[in-house]
Amino acid sequence: MNILLVGSGGREHALCWKLAQSPQVESIFAAPGNPGIAEHAQCVGLAVSDHPAIVAFCAEHRIGLVVIGPEAPLVDGLADSLRAADVPVFGPSAKAAQLEGSKGFTKALCDRAGIPTARYVRASHAAEAHAALADFDLPVVIKADGLAAGKGVIIAETAEEAEDAIGHMFAGAFGDAGAEVVIEEFMTGEEASFFAITDGSAIVAFGSAQDHKRVGEGDTGPNTGGMGAYSPAPVLTPELEAQVMERIIAPTVTTLAAEGMPYSGVLFAGLMLTSEGPKLIEYNCRFGDPECQVLMTRLQSDLAELVLATAKGELASSPPPRFSDDYALTVVMAAKGYPGTPEKGGAIALGDTGGAKVFHAGTALKDGGLVASGGRVLNVTGTGNSVTEAQRAAYAAVDAINFPAGFCRRDIGWREVARERG
Ligand code: ATP
Repeated sequence: MNILLVGSGGREHALCWKLAQSPQVESIFAAPGNPGIAEHAQCVGLAVSDHPAIVAFCAEHRIGLVVIGPEAPLVDGLADSLRAADVPVFGPSAKAAQLEGSKGFTKALCDRAGIPTARYVRASHAAEAHAALADFDLPVVIKADGLAAGKGVIIAETAEEAEDAIGHMFAGAFGDAGAEVVIEEFMTGEEASFFAITDGSAIVAFGSAQDHKRVGEGDTGPNTGGMGAYSPAPVLTPELEAQVMERIIAPTVTTLAAEGMPYSGVLFAGLMLTSEGPKLIEYNCRFGDPECQVLMTRLQSDLAELVLATAKGELASSPPPRFSDDYALTVVMAAKGYPGTPEKGGAIALGDTGGAKVFHAGTALKDGGLVASGGRVLNVTGTGNSVTEAQRAAYAAVDAINFPAGFCRRDIGWREVARERG
């Protein structure tokens, strides 16, 4: 089978690496890919927003499966265009991808399906939003409805901050994403991520992870796309995972199917583990980046077989995914300046990274050498029989990499390492 993989980040490198291990896979094409992905795939300069060109490419290269990595092409309906042309695709329709594309859509779905989540109000005018604030204690969470690359969520500690956030959003700070605003009750607890794969009817659990969103050690400083992650997340015990499947994932899948927008692909649930049990913070309609890197490192079964079965609606008869009992931990090496303006062009020498796996995110080749081309550059992934061991393996590899114009956090996994120390 030939596969087309859409995307160019560390997530897609991890997916490509795993897909390439399948005996069912003949060739992989990646649009647009990156130098790490190019080790397993032929990178092609297709415009991801040009759906007819992608459909034509699939016909020309006998593509038997398209795997879409990032959210934007899903929200934009690329999976619909491919399905309309009978190309099997791993990823939800634009309607189902509203789970990520509209926070208001997801909150309303939670109401209809009885899914535990923070109390909320949706507002489409500033006056409505300001009036709704009176019903919430501080801190209060103000969210732009649409995609805002992780920047559209403000946790307001004071009434003034909340008023300002509402003002900015309706003034267009996030463009169309802020045309509607969701105001939410602030939940307390530890955050964890849970993944499930579904074809709209069958559902399989696909593991847990915890990530570090802030740029600075001790989880301080501005938000980023993610500075590191580890899997599994021991805070999400088997009992809690069963609750998440029963109370959150299953009602989501059955409600969407009953309403004529079946969800096919991976469901990534951002959870708050509250004293009342796990509650949904948000859904993403694709794998997390860098959570995907740690999940793929632990996955032992055939990814291509699983995602093809999902794309064809045959998940119920596919063997369930199998994971190693080891922990995996990934450290993001970013270019200096990230998440502001990252320095581009910094030279990278990988060195001897031992048994660790180095996934490429923002890299490019220049005069035969590897250089940084984006904010997050490399995802250095170690494994071990505890988070502490996986962390040690990852940082030993980080130390073997010479990237003077880069930096990373030195404390990825700190919460779990402290718990393991006891
Ligand atoms: P964007 O849409 O801008 O990409 P996002 O999808 O990352 O943002 P969320 O995941 O909904 O947005 O929120 C980001 C973070 O804000 C969460 O990981 C969590 O730390 C915090 N947060 C969101 N909602 C709540 C809440 N109700 N209570 C407490 N913390 C919250």
